[in-house]
Amino acid sequence: MSFDHDAWEIVIGLEVHAELLTRTKLFSSAVNRFGGEPNTHIDALTLGLPGSLPVLNEHAVELAIRVGLALNCTVQRSVFARKNYFYPDQPKNYQISQYELPIDAEGWIELPSGMRVGIERAHLEEDTGKSTHIGGGGRIHDALYSLVDLNRAGVPLLEIVGKPDLRSAEDARAYVAELRSILVAVGASDGKMEEGSLRVDCNVSVRRRGDEAFGTRCEIKNVNSLRSMGRAIDYEAARQVDLISSGESVVQQTRHWNDAEGRTTLLRSKEDADDYRYFPDPDLVVLDPGEEWIERVRSELPMLPSQRRHRIAEVAGVPLDQTALVVERGLDDLCLATIGAGADPARVLTHAEHNMADERAAAIAPGAFASLVAMELDGRLTSTQTKQVLAEMIDSGDDPAAIAARNGFEAMDSSELDGIVDGLIEANPTEWQRFCEGDGKVAGFFVGQVMKATRGKADGKAVTALLDARRG
Ligand code: ADP
Ligand code: MG
Repeated sequence: MSFDHDAWEIVIGLEVHAELLTRTKLFSSAVNRFGGEPNTHIDALTLGLPGSLPVLNEHAVELAIRVGLALNCTVQRSVFARKNYFYPDQPKNYQISQYELPIDAEGWIELPSGMRVGIERAHLEEDTGKSTHIGGGGRIHDALYSLVDLNRAGVPLLEIVGKPDLRSAEDARAYVAELRSILVAVGASDGKMEEGSLRVDCNVSVRRRGDEAFGTRCEIKNVNSLRSMGRAIDYEAARQVDLISSGESVVQQTRHWNDAEGRTTLLRSKEDADDYRYFPDPDLVVLDPGEEWIERVRSELPMLPSQRRHRIAEVAGVPLDQTALVVERGLDDLCLATIGAGADPARVLTHAEHNMADERAAAIAPGAFASLVAMELDGRLTSTQTKQVLAEMIDSGDDPAAIAARNGFEAMDSSELDGIVDGLIEANPTEWQRFCEGDGKVAGFFVGQVMKATRGKADGKAVTALLDARRG
């Protein structure tokens, strides 16, 4: 399925649930840990036993404040509410969440492209347990019976609600990737989508380009990788365009992404807030962290990915989008130190972006990296040789000069290269004539001959420069 992207625009807003990295659950001292034997990370409160009362986890609040500040939100006085719905994996029969007053309100983040995406709110709530349906292909409808594991029930979640500012699957992927980097940077989440500690619900609608009003949206659940999220968005947008184009209308629904079949299917019609009968939880007091706590957390925040991108872009004088991968790989501190040691900024960034995917790359010595770049720019190493030396530096930690010597990459004397080029011109007058008349293809012939004569040691760019100089 596809559609005319010049005629239609996709509008996406994401709700990201992040499990917070606390030692214990949001309202009890049961352990917060992934996996484990079913029903071993539980206590009276997790089981919803009568008489058990919630006690708020201070560290979860601290993490929610950290994330709020990192997302440029206002951290405010908030209220816990009961969201009532029946779920076998949530024995209290309601989820404690925040409704009208979330802890974090109105913020934004900046993507590597420079695009800003609004954050509506982020609120604290409890995770549910997990049901496994046995028989009937694992679906609840035809299962013989179901098993309930409450290890995850009550784990602290921060639900981050983004504004409908995203316009493509690619925007959405960049947004989740950025959010994940921020959550990991502030120590709030391990960012593992595959273990479900980061879960994304996608709201997707379409509208004709030029229209002001948003279309009716559908919410897609069960996307558990960035790849399947992108596929789900494109599928869902095409489905909606199809419906509208054939005179039907989109009905607001919650849909389920089936990754194997590559399509979304109806899960349920959308609930209204009324269905949940929200009311303030009488077991908990208003949460008011106060200025002092918030300012203490602000002062302890680490440098965030976008600040790091801006810092290296400014120092190196390169465009912002050239810094995304460098920061993602954690190479920015090394690059800054290498530039500080006198290396050419653009070359340093180019190597970090293209030749340093190896995890150990961040550990090379800035001084050695700077020497390598100098050897390359002096013409002592060709670009191919430079790449090889860099790879061996990352592998062995050895000095670039030693690696170059051991590989026989000794400097090609420029007068030697001069002589070889002159000899070739003399020996191939017809080709030279054609080169002088502007036949660009002959340049490759000469470079090839030089490489043959020097057994690959010459720098192709230097040869081209010599040829151009001789043509005048
Ligand atoms: P609800 O209360 O029903 O969950 P919200 O207004 O809180 O609805 O929005 C939930 C999410 O849906 C937000 O991430 C928001 O950006 C997104 N959203 C809202 N309207 C649209 C729309 N027309 N198209 C796509 N996404 C939307
Ligand atoms: Mg919502």
